[in-house]
Amino acid sequence: MNLIFLGPPGSGKGTQAGILSTRTGWNDLGTGDLLRRLVKEGNEKALLAKSYMEKGELVPDALMVELLLAEPGDLGDGLILDGFPRTLNQADTLTQMMRARNLTLDAVLLIDVSDQEVERRLLQRSACSTCGKIFNQKLAVCPACGAQIQTRTDDNAETIRKRLKVYHQQTDPLVTYYQQQGLLRRICGEGEIDEISQRIRQALGIA
Ligand code: AMP
Repeated sequence: MNLIFLGPPGSGKGTQAGILSTRTGWNDLGTGDLLRRLVKEGNEKALLAKSYMEKGELVPDALMVELLLAEPGDLGDGLILDGFPRTLNQADTLTQMMRARNLTLDAVLLIDVSDQEVERRLLQRSACSTCGKIFNQKLAVCPACGAQIQTRTDDNAETIRKRLKVYHQQTDPLVTYYQQQGLLRRICGEGEIDEISQRIRQALGIA
């Protein structure tokens, strides 16, 4: 099965994509994680993307697609895309990329969370920049890998508002785009993590 997770920043799509990936063995490809890893590795192109990420803006489509395609082997069958596409342009590119690989898009899961809840969650979360794990509270040390936690530079009030604005302007149109293709499944993203995972599996008709 090949899926897209759609939703505002902080909706939990990364967490849910990770849980589904562990359960099914499908490849979880998160473009935010990919960009942060490439920046850390000092990838020249990714360093160009860094300034957009820090401002809460989207990385320009051409650069984003170039970085995604530079990861060979990631776009095979059994794919969970988390954070891509984020613009109509990227959605069209994805259609072409999948067609070229004989892949079918089976569903687009929209994780619905209010703006107010997004702000609350992002302001109180800790994201470990060493192992990438996310925790729903402010922590000094990562319980998963033991590294000192540095708050993500884009998890501050001003940048969170910017990311939400960008989401509504540039990513919201994808809801209609995928609805028209009959692929959209709307999932309530509020509640316990396990409950939301269950709603997702139910929407996909898997155990
Ligand atoms: P995320 O971890 O998904 O919240 O992504 C963090 C940041 O990475 C975003 O605010 C964007 O700057 C950038 N980013 C991630 N995915 C994309 C994408 N598909 N298109 C453009 N920028 C992206």
